[in-house]
Amino acid sequence: MAASPLAGAALAAAADAPADQLAILGGAKAHPTPFPSWPVFDQTEERALLDMLRSGKWYRGSGQMVNRFEQAYAQLTGARFCLGTANGTSALFTSLNGLGVEPGDEVLVPPYTFVATINVVLRQHALPVFVDTDAETFQMDARKIEAAITPRTRAIVPVHLGGNACDLDAILPIAARHNIPVIEDACQAHLGEWRGRKVGTYGQAGCFSFQASKNLNSGEGGAILSNDEDLRDRCYTFHNNGSGLKPIGSFTYSSTGTNLRMTEFQAALLMAQMTRIEEQAKTRTENARYLTSLLKEIPGIAPARMYDGCTRNAYHLYMFRYDKAHFAGVPRSVFLKALAAEGVPASGGYTPLNTQPFLKNALHSRGCQKLFPGTVLAEWEERNRCPVNDRLCEEAVWFTQTMLLAPRSSMDRIADGIRKIQANAALLSRA
Ligand SMILES: *Cc1c(COP(=O)(O)O)cnc(C)c1O
Repeated sequence: MAASPLAGAALAAAADAPADQLAILGGAKAHPTPFPSWPVFDQTEERALLDMLRSGKWYRGSGQMVNRFEQAYAQLTGARFCLGTANGTSALFTSLNGLGVEPGDEVLVPPYTFVATINVVLRQHALPVFVDTDAETFQMDARKIEAAITPRTRAIVPVHLGGNACDLDAILPIAARHNIPVIEDACQAHLGEWRGRKVGTYGQAGCFSFQASKNLNSGEGGAILSNDEDLRDRCYTFHNNGSGLKPIGSFTYSSTGTNLRMTEFQAALLMAQMTRIEEQAKTRTENARYLTSLLKEIPGIAPARMYDGCTRNAYHLYMFRYDKAHFAGVPRSVFLKALAAEGVPASGGYTPLNTQPFLKNALHSRGCQKLFPGTVLAEWEERNRCPVNDRLCEEAVWFTQTMLLAPRSSMDRIADGIRKIQANAALLSRA
């Protein structure tokens, strides 16, 4: 059997691993060293956790650490109030409850997000309504919000996806005009800013996640920011089994709730991690800016644009679009494999949420059938098409935030790897 030209190239390359040859075909890696590991910690975290352990006060009702964290995070973001929660999902769920979103309501959401943004709406037995994505910024397309609003719309949940900011200048006035509250899903946007003010402080509520992958990490954890004291109180009550900051009596309740409290251990870890957050964010910003200056020169690579109002991108993800037409038609999946072989791990990111089975199943559930008029459910699919997002999901490429904590030279190596793939794309497309 004749060897394919590709196998021949791989064999020849193995001997001396030339730098200009693709690593996937046996050449040298463009980025031979590992990227920084995550989480980052030292004796600061060890001491904080040991002190917490020894204090024996592990629950927010007996200790002071969650209170301290809430004050510190409010101060860091400039919000009036902060409420710690068990995780980001529960921050969103608590906010929906605090704002009075009820079964039978509709909530506007983007299709380009982590599934939790949608799940919390369904857990509230409300109907998620998808607003298509802006192709250039990867954020909810504010120009398409108004058409999605109905008399049943009770909240808008825009996401600052990847740490980039959604178009608050456009979203907030629309929401105000229709008297619909905004919950910012800032779960990926710690320290991100819009016109010099922290994201998460613009909507009625702003939700954050401190899950292990996030830029501020306590394994699991979350927070709600708000400038509205009544809303903060309602959220507190909901997340504390219906028991408010000023209980009406012992074991006596005027509203329902659940337990979504943050533990003292989470807060202790967050206080320690917060000593690093500003410096890490600066490193990511510098590296991301430099990487963008390199990648935007490569035909077929289009880094996600920022709106003018985004004065600080939190860079939880470094996102760009891959156009295979400039890579000899090499599919994105092959590009990702070739890039990984170069020592540059990358992901293809989200698949469209609005067409996934969990939504179809939810719409066909007994609860949904009871709560929503048949016409609403029948028209849902047609109403929720997101063609721009469908295409983005086929073309997007992500680097994780930890890669942006590498030395600046790593950004050069990432760009080298992509350029090398482009130069040799014909070899890959023949494979
Ligand atoms: C991580 C994340 C969440 C959920 O946060 P958890 O802490 O994992 O529950 C919600 N929305 C977005 C956009 C996220 O990235």
